[in-house]
Amino acid sequence: MEILNYNEILVKEKLNEMWKEQKLLCKCKKCRLDVMALALNQLPPKYVVSEKGELYLKANSFNLQASTDVTKAIVDAMGKVERKPNH
Ligand SMILES: [Zn+2]
Repeated sequence: MEILNYNEILVKEKLNEMWKEQKLLCKCKKCRLDVMALALNQLPPKYVVSEKGELYLKANSFNLQASTDVTKAIVDAMGKVERKPNH
């Protein structure tokens, strides 16, 4: 059992998809992690207790509102990193 931030998992999954599509940013690991950190700072933490693996299944069927919030946070974060890359 462990405690996980559900929003962190959603951001990771969504960013995986969006990162392949995006053409604005430098594709290095630093920029990607910066986007992830900025996006997570905009979202409230959503801690859940989970058996390992179980949560990943749930994350695949996350609801539309959560998906919209996460997508918006990532788009915002990408804009910030694009304007001001950290390296
Ligand atoms: Zn970079």
